[in-house]
Amino acid sequence: MSERIPLAILGATGMVGQRMVQLLQNHPRFEIAALAGSERSAGRPYGEATTWRLPGDMPAGLADMIVRPCTVDGMPAGVRLVLSALPSDIAKVAEPAFRDAGHAVVTNASALRMDPNVPLIVPEVNADHLSLIDRQGPGFVVANPNCCTIPLAMALAPLHERWGVEALTVATYQAVSGAGYPGESAWDMVGSVHPHPGDEEEKLAEEPAKILGTPHAAADFLLSARCVRVPVADGHLLAVHVKLKGNPTISEVDGAMRGWTGKAPPLPSCPTPPLRFTTRRDRPSPRFDVDAGGGMQATIGRLEACPVMGIKFYVLGHNTIRGAAGAAIANAELLDALGRIP
Ligand code: NAP
Repeated sequence: MSERIPLAILGATGMVGQRMVQLLQNHPRFEIAALAGSERSAGRPYGEATTWRLPGDMPAGLADMIVRPCTVDGMPAGVRLVLSALPSDIAKVAEPAFRDAGHAVVTNASALRMDPNVPLIVPEVNADHLSLIDRQGPGFVVANPNCCTIPLAMALAPLHERWGVEALTVATYQAVSGAGYPGESAWDMVGSVHPHPGDEEEKLAEEPAKILGTPHAAADFLLSARCVRVPVADGHLLAVHVKLKGNPTISEVDGAMRGWTGKAPPLPSCPTPPLRFTTRRDRPSPRFDVDAGGGMQATIGRLEACPVMGIKFYVLGHNTIRGAAGAAIANAELLDALGRIP
């Protein structure tokens, strides 16, 4: 492999942007060439504009980098790969501008996820959907799904591939870091749990079918979601009840999930196998399982028979790593592995 590919991070000062910065330290294929933020931050050193909210110090050498505006003209020469951690309303305008200027845009934002020409990718699940970028022109946008959709799609993939999902219900227990900083009000989170006031349930209801379908047609199953924010720092836990075609036994389902290695080529950020299992009755839990596989593995537990739907289990994923920053980096690695970065 030759020299590293320079990239820019849009929204580099936020929760997900900081995770990207952290995960890209010593990356074998990518190097950070630009950090970009809002008018509040542009023109200031990254170390001054950013309140570092992750364990450990801000990576050395970046504190002095001047934050740029999130515009095509604001980028240094040679940057053709852009990772976006922008709020959705800003992404809706900024990301197409980068795409139209010929950049590869890999986004966390929800703005373009359901665009039929934008692949919504979890590398192990649907790397083949990347063919959709050929519909977009020389520049393109590739999206990663919502932070709950990703572990859910990883858990369902081996089941959908083997039997087909007929219907499922999902209830989430979502960490506060999923709302960015400052996120939810302390009044809503301290000593309480908080049914999600935004459109999280709608995203979780529609994204899995796009991912588990073909590049051109969504999978045909029913999904009902309820999303609740709980006082946990990192890690979204999902309670899933699923009806599969053919009513397989628990032991057949267990075997299919444990044997699943996914469809991605080897990627630096994606552990094999993608799923991890716990047999303890009190797990998975964010406190003990969230960092599995460097935060990139989803942990399955309590796989049991469900008298209503057939199968039930819990799945846990790290929301700012597997569910956001690490997901975008993995998608960029997939583009790189397939030679699709301009
Ligand atoms: P956040 O902490 O609020 O960070 C937002 C970032 O966007 C900051 O860098 C901010 O820059 C920048 N920004 C805000 N307004 C801007 C503007 N007008 N122009 C340019 N930049 C602007 O949010 P986050 O949690 O990192 O989320 C970022 C995106 O990822 C969102 O679309 C979110 O839905 C998605 N996402 C988040 C998670 C999660 O677990 N947190 C998971 C999956 C997806 P300044 O600091 O300079 O203002």
